[in-house]
Amino acid sequence: MAKLAIKSDNQQQLMLLPPSYEELVPLTHPVRVINSVINRIDLKEIFSSYKGGGNSCFNPASMLKILIFAYLNNIHSCRKIEQQLKENVLYMWLSGCIRPDFRTLNYFRSKRLKDSFSDIFTQVVELLHEEGFVSLDVQYIDGTKIESMANKYTFVWRKSVEKNDEKLKEKTRIVLKQIEAQINFDENETESTEPLCVEDFQERLDKINKQIEKKSTPKKIRKQIEKIQHENIAKMQTYKDQLAKMEGRNSYSKTDPEATFMRMKEDAMLNGQLKPGYNIQIATENQFITNFAVFQRPTDTMTLIPFLDSFKKRYNRQSKIAIADSGYGSEQNYEYMMDLEIIPYVKYNYFHKEQKRNHKNNPFLSANFYYNEKENYYICPMGQHMNFVRNEKRLSDAGFTSTVSIYKAQRCEGCFLRSICHKAKGNRVIEINHKLNKYREYVRDLLNTQEGYYHRSKRPVEPEAVFGQIKQNGMFRRFRLKGLKGAEIEFGLKALAHNMLKLAAKGGFLSFLKAFCVTVLFLNRYNSSLLGHLDKRGTIEDENEQLFDIYVKKRGYLTFYC
Ligand code: SF4
Repeated sequence: MAKLAIKSDNQQQLMLLPPSYEELVPLTHPVRVINSVINRIDLKEIFSSYKGGGNSCFNPASMLKILIFAYLNNIHSCRKIEQQLKENVLYMWLSGCIRPDFRTLNYFRSKRLKDSFSDIFTQVVELLHEEGFVSLDVQYIDGTKIESMANKYTFVWRKSVEKNDEKLKEKTRIVLKQIEAQINFDENETESTEPLCVEDFQERLDKINKQIEKKSTPKKIRKQIEKIQHENIAKMQTYKDQLAKMEGRNSYSKTDPEATFMRMKEDAMLNGQLKPGYNIQIATENQFITNFAVFQRPTDTMTLIPFLDSFKKRYNRQSKIAIADSGYGSEQNYEYMMDLEIIPYVKYNYFHKEQKRNHKNNPFLSANFYYNEKENYYICPMGQHMNFVRNEKRLSDAGFTSTVSIYKAQRCEGCFLRSICHKAKGNRVIEINHKLNKYREYVRDLLNTQEGYYHRSKRPVEPEAVFGQIKQNGMFRRFRLKGLKGAEIEFGLKALAHNMLKLAAKGGFLSFLKAFCVTVLFLNRYNSSLLGHLDKRGTIEDENEQLFDIYVKKRGYLTFYC
């Protein structure tokens, strides 16, 4: 048997030249993209959050790089990031070997980035725009729900609060009335029919208290008054505060009052349990996240307008095209997009259904009735005129008023089609929203053009694929920071990490490291006497200087790139 040769693994072996982390970081690794991108953006907003003076602080740029790189590696816990900084050579290279502890990292994430994160994200996307990765003319929009860090069982429901509040007020009102009768209350006021608020009860109780001070009052009544003051009024105040916290929502969590209970796609128990969370909306282009926003309401329809507004605010421009699924197709949204001259490739509820044969050929659907626009009437399958009755105003949850026209058949009694036509009593009534129908007609034509097919087919591989990447591959299913702002920072970090990963995958490192390549090319001309001409490096950028030195001085890798 031939002699077994084993490679040397002497742990005590010293190196002739001290090793550098630079050599250990692959040139095309995403960590280099993060480094280059963050070096190119202006961080004055974060710097302005530092007071100055005192002990030295960690460089905010390095802290930001560390967080983005950790989120890119699906590490969202600051304790784990701290561990990585001690053990992982990529983190050491990226951070320049600084070792902030988990508290410092968390403080930076939750407090320092609070007011400046949006600006950082905007700058990164603008950089992508400059480099030609995104045009910012198109937005593929979609939303997802992500669970808050709050406990699942800390819910406060609007309906239950309102019901309990009402019951308590009624009970207190009756008791107060009885007390007033028993003490021969001086002020003979007629009781208001308006619902009473906690202040009204307090005022009434104060008056009773003044009255009983003048006379001797039975102990039982005094006890009742005390109970109302300390229990009922206090409870009413709690209900009032709870309703104020909801801010128009139907629920909130006690441990994260800004989170709303909503249905999540991930339902491990398969019982449809609502969980506290946030509704995240994103806009993507070429799978880069160009905009994101966190909402407290679960319905997507109501988020589109503020989301488009946030895009305008972020980039001082509006995109020309918006693509979204049928969850966003409402009259208010169409109107808004048309006013802003955004081309809406946004489906509506029955877009697919109405193109099916059995829908098109169903003569009993009001959408298939003949409409005489000039004389404003419909014709039912029996040939009867359905005359216009009136217009009705409808107010949506978002506060938008739409107009619905009502049409009624003249005589359905005795019609042999009645059993298959409608089941209501009397003559058939149909409700038509003409404005919405016009928008739908326009959008239908748009979606059926060649460009419409292109955008429709691209939508599932744009925001939906990005959510898959973030939630499934990125293991990002729950926030770690509380509140709307915390959710915004955390999702923003994940979105930035996603963009960096995409950039690295699309060869972005070449574009961002072009300064380095140009430098190497430049230096190649001076190959022969390189070490003697280091002062001829010309416009080499600081960030690449160290990199350059290693290649040239220690390895002589000058021709590596050329
Ligand atoms: S039931 Fe009334 S609306 Fe329906 S087809 Fe007959 S007449 Fe027309």
